[in-house]
Amino acid sequence: MTKGALLYEGKGKKLFLTEDEHLLISEFKDDLTAFNAEKRGNEAGKGALNCKISTQLFHLLEKHGIKTHLVKTLDDTHQLVKKVSIIPIEVVVRNIATGSLSKRLGIKDGTVLPFTLVEFYYKDDTLGDPLLNDEHCLMLSLVKSESDLEELKRLGREINSIMKSFFAERKLKLVDFKVEFGADKEGNILLADEISPDSCRFWDIDTNEKLDKDRFRQGLGDVKIAYEEVLKRILNH
Ligand code: UDP
Repeated sequence: MTKGALLYEGKGKKLFLTEDEHLLISEFKDDLTAFNAEKRGNEAGKGALNCKISTQLFHLLEKHGIKTHLVKTLDDTHQLVKKVSIIPIEVVVRNIATGSLSKRLGIKDGTVLPFTLVEFYYKDDTLGDPLLNDEHCLMLSLVKSESDLEELKRLGREINSIMKSFFAERKLKLVDFKVEFGADKEGNILLADEISPDSCRFWDIDTNEKLDKDRFRQGLGDVKIAYEEVLKRILNH
């Protein structure tokens, strides 16, 4: 499969056409952004780490019956993926309050939530990815029906329960994460994009040390070391 024209460039990845109209090549970039791209950076090797981490997690989820866009990993930074029409909703799943949830609702950072919280955000950089309720999603026609929203919530919770126990065995708390979904040509909802320390918060179970993009956002340093540690724990359990 060869890389054709650039179809789309996002903050963390580039998508290229291939000779098969139903398949794309996804390239993981070394770029890092924080808070709607106000702060930018670059960490050599970060793209390869995210590609490896995301590949492992997508395989884990596939094993548990979650359908994903991943066809195969081509090399250190490239995946062959099914072309999907991305649903413009960021599905955020939370186990512990931090970040925007703590700020918005005044919940003390680190509070364990009484139940898994699923939130929807509008995937629109110019609007700053605002929080959406179900009626906003329907009013903006971001999905076809209420049952699609229920399916996104169900998938978010299912992915959370699989990953939460997987990471607990590896001494990491899965604090929260963001996932994106797309519809394939048959209309199936597939997990798309990536799952990596760019899109998840991982805290060490004993020390609460942050092993994710917050190291970059909060200027804590050693971003690559933290991502390497996450991959090491995924692989060497
Ligand atoms: N997240 C993401 N992309 C975004 C916004 C959030 O991957 O554009 C992830 C983020 O890494 C965290 C979760 O979604 O794991 C919840 O983020 P939050 O709403 O707390 O926003 P933040 O404080 O990160 O700006």
